Amino acid sequence: MRIAILGAGYVGLVSGACFAEFGVEVALLDTDAARIEALREGRIPIHEPGLDALVAENAREGRLSFTTDLHAALEGAEAVFLAVGTPTRRGDGHADLSFVYAAAEDVARAARQPIVLVTKSTVPVGTGRELKRRVGALRPDLDIAIASNPEFLREGAAIGDFMRPDRIVIGLEEGEAGARAERVLRRLYRPLYLIETPIVTTSIETAETIKYAANAFLAMKISFINEVADFCERAGGDVHDVARGIGLDGRIGRKFLHAGPGYGGSCFPKDTLAFARTGQELGVPLRLVETTIAVNAARKTSMADRVIQACGGDVTGRVIGLLGLTFKPETDDMRDSPSLEIVPRLVAAGARVQAHDPEGIEAARRLLPPEVVYAANALEAASGADALVLLTEWNEYRNIAPDRLRGAMRGDLLLDLRNVYEPAAMREAGFTYHSIGRR
Ligand code: NAD
Repeated sequence: MRIAILGAGYVGLVSGACFAEFGVEVALLDTDAARIEALREGRIPIHEPGLDALVAENAREGRLSFTTDLHAALEGAEAVFLAVGTPTRRGDGHADLSFVYAAAEDVARAARQPIVLVTKSTVPVGTGRELKRRVGALRPDLDIAIASNPEFLREGAAIGDFMRPDRIVIGLEEGEAGARAERVLRRLYRPLYLIETPIVTTSIETAETIKYAANAFLAMKISFINEVADFCERAGGDVHDVARGIGLDGRIGRKFLHAGPGYGGSCFPKDTLAFARTGQELGVPLRLVETTIAVNAARKTSMADRVIQACGGDVTGRVIGLLGLTFKPETDDMRDSPSLEIVPRLVAAGARVQAHDPEGIEAARRLLPPEVVYAANALEAASGADALVLLTEWNEYRNIAPDRLRGAMRGDLLLDLRNVYEPAAMREAGFTYHSIGRR
């Protein structure tokens, strides 16, 4: 079986490599020629654990190829996946669908055989129907079935998530087009239903809504525990124990109950905004989602204030070491990372920021103020610092002996915004230790 995937970013590249690993022949297309060139030369343009080996092996076996030539990519393809970006549209919070529509229209113009056009990008409800209208207008002569197959992988654990997902969601048109799309998608995902992965087959509108509802719910969980953390700080509780105490209840679940500096990344911020925006347009405001967005924005802002206050209310000339810049560990993705909010505020307040991140520095250089100095490792970021702030919970930061960190610093202030350290051990090492939601 042969498929094409348009968009060789986090989702397209991981999906392509995994489908190839399932035995499918995958042509991965991107409009970014430099990206395709890099992939052809065996260079992986993103950091995702295990992806380099998976791509290399499947490219070597001839199942995974890279191209900028749409006609070549569509040659013999039964399904064409759209995995292009859907960033926030400037000004109104809506998802920018221009990449999706452009890619779909290119496919419609170039297609020579009946195809199933599958949206893997996260797109608002109604997009599938609009795609159907657009490709139908361009190619009334050709049988193009539309399907929705939202992706739920997490960066940093993407291959495992793709290979062993909690479920697969497939949104289908009615009638023969839907039946044809279902046959193609079930064949593609056959290795997964052999391991009994549940498949939720539904309408396209429902599939589109499932993706946004899932992300909004997870974002809401994070914002909920962040508010409980603030509550604990005032009331005298420990948010870590509260999270465990409620999370062990199977109805609640333990995941996404880690208090921190607010959610970021390439999905939650833009998807909550787009979901809320669609709700407003449909006349059904999603007030919980709107509040989650506001709570999270305030959270990120308040983190810089928290650092400044811990430094006595004035950071002018103070050296602040930062551990971690990406929105979470095991990725180089800086999109909407809390650091993008916190670092500029610290710099504007007069702090001298020296930051380390194992994978994010290249992207950070383009996004953070030029005054930021980048360190080669955690100890260098701590070197001579008045305060050290842990922003992203990379494993390598967990493993450093606290007295080495403390010994490198000029001051003794440690702000652990991810609650990774043991308060007693940190105090023993001589730190004035602050964490989130714990006294
Ligand atoms: P990305 O920005 O990493 O990659 C998108 C790629 O599409 C880029 O390489 C870009 O050059 C390419 N592209 C743009 N227009 C194109 C066209 N017409 N033809 C071919 N390629 C084109 O994006 P991503 O993070 O992989 O996200 C893609 C979609 O998947 C988004 O809708 C996102 O919301 C969704 N999603 C992302 C994640 C994640 O963790 N990143 C998880 C689930 C779903």
